[in-house]
Amino acid sequence: MNFRLTDEQILFRNMAREFSEKNIRPLAKDIDRNEQIPLSLLKGMAELGLLGVTIPETYGGPGGDAVLAAVGAMEVARGDVSMAVPVYYLLEAGWSVVINKYGSEEAKKELLPAIAKGDNFLGIATTEPGGGSDLANLKTTAVRKGDKFIINGEKAFYSGHRECEQIGRGGHMTLLRTDLSKGTKGFSFVYVPYNCPGMKYTHYNHLGRKGFSTGGMTYENVEVPAYYLMGEENRGYNYAMDGFSLARTLVASACIGAAERALELGMDYIKTREAFGQPIARFEGIQFELANDYAMLEMVRTAVLKAAWLYDEIQRGGDATISELNLQMGISKLMAPQVAFDIFKHVMMWYGGAGYNTDVELGMGLNGILSYLAGAEGALNIMRIIIGKELLGKEFMPVS
Ligand SMILES: Cc1cc2nc3c(=O)[nH]c(=O)nc-3n(C[C@H](O)[C@H](O)[C@H](O)COP(=O)(O)OP(=O)(O)OC[C@H]3O[C@@H](n4cnc5c(N)ncnc54)[C@H](O)[C@@H]3O)c2cc1C
Repeated sequence: MNFRLTDEQILFRNMAREFSEKNIRPLAKDIDRNEQIPLSLLKGMAELGLLGVTIPETYGGPGGDAVLAAVGAMEVARGDVSMAVPVYYLLEAGWSVVINKYGSEEAKKELLPAIAKGDNFLGIATTEPGGGSDLANLKTTAVRKGDKFIINGEKAFYSGHRECEQIGRGGHMTLLRTDLSKGTKGFSFVYVPYNCPGMKYTHYNHLGRKGFSTGGMTYENVEVPAYYLMGEENRGYNYAMDGFSLARTLVASACIGAAERALELGMDYIKTREAFGQPIARFEGIQFELANDYAMLEMVRTAVLKAAWLYDEIQRGGDATISELNLQMGISKLMAPQVAFDIFKHVMMWYGGAGYNTDVELGMGLNGILSYLAGAEGALNIMRIIIGKELLGKEFMPVS
């Protein structure tokens, strides 16, 4: 057992940290205020291999694994605690893996190099207006006609429509019913370019992570080439779940990076702010809370890195199992947002009135992390169900 990052991972972390502190953090408040990530920032990330970090070298990426992607997510989030830039980062890192694993050669050649260069946004659209947790109940359909799929239906909470327009290229992986008689065994997972005729978008005004768009989307007789199908028809649910295992691990990782930044801000503040003639860091009410917060953060960090490592072990053909990964990913995505949210809240209280201000990053962080408590990348109760299933067995799942 070895809990240290490798030399290569440390180099990558240092490079990502330096970039994040120099290039992301100074822009983070403007990104939140202007509700847009500058294209030049995305290009800068791409040049460093920070976009599509998991894309293999053959397709123009750095060929990183899940642990490297998780390390990158922490660093990007230390720069932008609002989660806007981290979400962009982790969608590309997470869902590129699905294209690489299951996509046709044509789709890989077309999409992966462009994602790695920052020229093609890649999002995910599974949630529908009828709900995101009960994916088995999704209604959007696709019918195969020769070398095309014809898609009809509606998705909700799709993140990235504005970014596609801004870049002028991009799209999303979408989960569709291709066999109405078979439940989740009749789902297919397909890439859809954002500007296909028949697609319409709406925009949601979210509380936080404002630099990254989310909205609704309808498909009316949208035609996409069949080479955008991932893997086999009607096996898409499994591919989507594979993608979620990684994407959720990276979400948890981003929450840790943001919380780390909050604690850093908090520690600097409590060492210098004085009350009753001494630094407030001396008061047990504050120092003991810091100790608890740090302990929680360290425990969750270990859990998240273990989830990423399990993902890699499975990829490498090691003896890790999907059950182990599900359990560890569930723990990570359940706990990291909650721990991060508590840390932001505590640091805001240590700041007193000075924390309730847009001049410091704390409000941005609170609102951004809140998206993960509200449900982004899967509701917390769904993580509890995943953990419960692994502990008790499928027969005790509260839902089928
Ligand atoms: C900022 C943001 C960005 C998002 N981006 C995307 C995106 O890019 N792509 C995408 O596809 N989706 C996206 N989502 C949607 C997200 O995946 C869903 O919000 C999530 O899956 C929950 O679905 P829901 O909101 O429909 O809530 P519901 O499924 O309606 O659930 C409502 C509540 O009921 C609880 N619940 C549901 N079932 C059970 C159960 N069996 N037992 C106990 N409790 C239960 C849930 O935990 C939740 O608290 C985003 C969401 C947010 C907030």
